[in-house]
Amino acid sequence: MEKFINKDSSFFDQVERIMACTRCRLSGLCQHRCPGLGDLNAKVIFVGEAPGRVENPDLWGLPFIGNRSSDLLLDVIYSNWPKGYDEVFVTNVVKCNPPQNRKPEEDEIEACSYLLREELALVKPKVVVALGRTAANWFGINESLSTAKWKEYSWNSCLLFVKFHPAYILRLGPKATLQYMTEFKLMKKRVEEFEKI
Ligand code: URA
Repeated sequence: MEKFINKDSSFFDQVERIMACTRCRLSGLCQHRCPGLGDLNAKVIFVGEAPGRVENPDLWGLPFIGNRSSDLLLDVIYSNWPKGYDEVFVTNVVKCNPPQNRKPEEDEIEACSYLLREELALVKPKVVVALGRTAANWFGINESLSTAKWKEYSWNSCLLFVKFHPAYILRLGPKATLQYMTEFKLMKKRVEEFEKI
């Protein structure tokens, strides 16, 4: 029980740090600051790029909530981890929504990295899923994603998978979406084998 109390209070401390952070230009420009969301004891963590712009003000401040790419990720999660946010954790490399949804710049990623490092240290996942190029690079994977998506890597004793960002898959159309779901099914099988070890 104490473990949970400590994790919760560390998490809320981190949320406060995110809300107060001024380490890069995004802090003065972003519409949404967005801590990670989910189970602080999750075995699996999904890491995206940066929070998207969400028009509905009721939905601000949550990772991968409120647009079509988020819905695709939620489909992926709930088809493989039925308890959803009660068994996985979802976050981003950068915690502020960059203006016009542009990609975060190198110095912004660098400035924000302490927060992802803190989340990883808090949740202590066994499996990391990097979604898209920005997240893949953060974990040191620089290969093309078309190659990387079929591989498994190891990162700090975690099993690391790299997948395309769901927003990219949506641009490719329904066939790619089906293929994406299949890739995650295969990945989940591998995760189950890994958990038995
Ligand atoms: N929403 C997020 O939280 N992250 C992304 O990478 C895209 C949309």
